[in-house]
Amino acid sequence: MSDIAQKFGIQEALELLGIHDINDGTSTGSKHFSSGELIESYSPVDGALIAKVRTTSAKDYSQVMDTATAAFKAWRTKPAPQRGEIVRQFGQKLRELKEPLGKLVSYEMGKSYQEGLGEVQEMIDICDFAVGLSRQLHGLTMHSERPGHRMYEQYHPLGVVGIISAFNFPVAVWAWNTALAWVAGDVCVWKPSEKTPLCGIACQNIAAEVFKANNLPEGISCLINGDYKVGVFMTHDKRIPLVSATGSIRMGKIVAQAVASRLGKSLLELGGNNAIIVSPDADIKMTVIGAVFGAVGTAGQRCTSTRRLIIHESIYDRVKEAIVTAYKQLRIGNPLDEKNHVGPLIDTDAVKNYQNALSKVVEEGGKLIVEGGLLEGKGYESGCYVRPAIAEAKNSFEIVQHETFAPVLYLLKYSGEVENAIEIQNGVVQGLSSAIMTNNLREAERFLSAQGSDCGIANVNIGTSGAEIGGAFGGEKETGGGRESGSDAWKVYMRRQTNTINYTTQLPLAQGIKFDI
Ligand code: NAD
Repeated sequence: MSDIAQKFGIQEALELLGIHDINDGTSTGSKHFSSGELIESYSPVDGALIAKVRTTSAKDYSQVMDTATAAFKAWRTKPAPQRGEIVRQFGQKLRELKEPLGKLVSYEMGKSYQEGLGEVQEMIDICDFAVGLSRQLHGLTMHSERPGHRMYEQYHPLGVVGIISAFNFPVAVWAWNTALAWVAGDVCVWKPSEKTPLCGIACQNIAAEVFKANNLPEGISCLINGDYKVGVFMTHDKRIPLVSATGSIRMGKIVAQAVASRLGKSLLELGGNNAIIVSPDADIKMTVIGAVFGAVGTAGQRCTSTRRLIIHESIYDRVKEAIVTAYKQLRIGNPLDEKNHVGPLIDTDAVKNYQNALSKVVEEGGKLIVEGGLLEGKGYESGCYVRPAIAEAKNSFEIVQHETFAPVLYLLKYSGEVENAIEIQNGVVQGLSSAIMTNNLREAERFLSAQGSDCGIANVNIGTSGAEIGGAFGGEKETGGGRESGSDAWKVYMRRQTNTINYTTQLPLAQGIKFDI
């Protein structure tokens, strides 16, 4: 273990999460079904090798699917409130292990320890939500047009749900899916990002312990490891009726086609290009907090990170100055150290993408007003720490249209009415999160109207970044159209059945059709 890992108790955290023998990938909880090659997990915090994890081969995958399919047969017979009780126990275990899991998230992914804890809190919150939901998976009843008939609809479990997740929310996205899928009566097979495999193993160990304590098959929660090739096993597998995939638009297009070609369902949570509109009636102090946190939090690696600020020309200079001043106060460094605001990017490829974006915006005629750049020297040995950058740009620039998963903020100017800002905000292919900062009620309502923001999330006087689990989460256009987490997102994990019961001695046909024999 590296000095930083020792100082911040990473070894102890791994032990508490049931990850013991970390050099040959054999004792990581997924041992039964992992015989493929080893992948290495490096921390972007200090560049140290944390562990080697064995990947899932095609043969292993087939065993996983047998186990999951068998577990589904048992799990679906358990009444939903009893399934909720298991999710309650899982949430309780997460409460007990919040600190070690939050620490591992921070060390393996690079987000701040506070954000790591926040991510585990989201898991706990969705478990609480799912427990309540387990008593509310209700359908409708309708009046039949035929006398002596009763008609209603009910929801049944779907089967094996495949989950493919991204590196930037290495544990919460799985929980958003799995907590709902479990109370719905489904079992889950999860492929976490190959960049954060230990987070996946830690979650699997926690879930496995709960299932074991309740004499339930571990196959209710299955883990498979590896890169996109392992994800492809699931997208092509007819035994998986629903694939929930979180990641880039590029990945989503491939996954959507593969799943659709076998008429499966996919739930897609893809990239964003989120903007905050700053109106002449904005509270500047709130705007600066929302915009800066949105742009640099998680080093700009949230799907909901603020990428564009669309500022009215009348306050453009004031807002620009306030944000540039705030950027000067940012402390960049080890994310486990709570005094730092900004941690590293996930890897050196991400650094290259960031550098490429900065060159491109200048090539296209933009101007860097906070220059950014790679940090080097003591504390930055991993080569993944960059300075958050700000560029004045135009929405039409190719690079502005594109999601760069790094702390690069584009300032765009609008004039006239809020409709002009909304047109800029909607003028990208992505449609995840959006916000307006204004104290003008009419403007706010126009932004939220049918002619307003075209995104899945539209906020007033809150930034774009983050979301509460109680609402349905997801985005439109190339963000993929999926919804997960709260509200009625649970319906995607179930199949709907319409039932009609005839309690007469006649067989009247619908629409008054006569069929005399
Ligand atoms: P990525 O697309 O590179 O990988 C995501 C996951 O997909 C990984 O597990 C990867 O192995 C898998 N994968 C890649 N190609 C695949 C294929 N052809 N078939 C099956 N699986 C495949 O994304 P990333 O770099 O890990 O994450 C960053 C991206 O995720 C950003 O675009 C971000 O906006 C997006 N994201 C979106 C949301 C959301 O809710 N909308 C949440 C988090 C991240």
